[in-house]
Amino acid sequence: MHVFVKPINRFLACQVCAGLLFVQREIKMTTTGMTFFDLDWANKSADGAICRRCGFVHTFLGGGLQWLAPDQVKADDLPEDPLAGAAELP
Ligand SMILES: [Zn+2]
Repeated sequence: MHVFVKPINRFLACQVCAGLLFVQREIKMTTTGMTFFDLDWANKSADGAICRRCGFVHTFLGGGLQWLAPDQVKADDLPEDPLAGAAELP
């Protein structure tokens, strides 16, 4: 899936390899420390975007992501991928 980051109006590119395809996974953020400091908003689940090429996990709070299948995205709207065509994780 491609990930559109609504607050910055851009598609996500992996921080490590600049990949453009991700797998979505919920990430639990519960910690007693956050409750102690009255930061319960930080305890909610995060949206994890796992890079399909290198496995790096990008973690987002706040629901600012929109997940789109590749056939819903115009290639011209995506950032440049300098490693396009490289192998991806299974
Ligand atoms: Zn990557």
